[in-house]
Amino acid sequence: MIKRKVVLRFPATVVELPFIYTLAREFDVVANILKANINPRKEGSMVVELSAEEEKYDAAINYLQSRGVVILPLEQQIIWVEDRCTQCGACTVICPTNALWMKRPEMIVSFCSEKCVVCEQCLKACPARAVEALYLAGE
Ligand code: SF4
Ligand code: SF4
Repeated sequence: MIKRKVVLRFPATVVELPFIYTLAREFDVVANILKANINPRKEGSMVVELSAEEEKYDAAINYLQSRGVVILPLEQQIIWVEDRCTQCGACTVICPTNALWMKRPEMIVSFCSEKCVVCEQCLKACPARAVEALYLAGE
């Protein structure tokens, strides 16, 4: 079973086709939409997590490409919005790499992006929505 996050870029000519429905019905691919920017008759994009058996996943990717959809690997980053942080410390307890950590003796929460492994634990733990996931399309 493959589970992969990708960015799909749709040309304006095909943006209104029911791709997600077709992936599920024709290829048994489950597409979990994380973010979408789709407008009628305009170029669109979507961040999705695709899950499927390997063979079906490959067939679905070939289908999308044959319709002109560009598939890009997803690069994900975690952003800490310091202004929104209430310094509750919840994220520092669950962060597995100490990317979010409590600076002592000041007892101030800090973030080191280089240590972050994008496990997303802090997204769920933060009551102030001070941590955000940023999705970037790789080339
Ligand atoms: S995404 Fe994971 S590793 Fe990165 S700061 Fe959040 S909890 Fe820590
Ligand atoms: S959980 Fe959110 S509000 Fe609490 S310290 Fe971490 S980033 Fe700040």
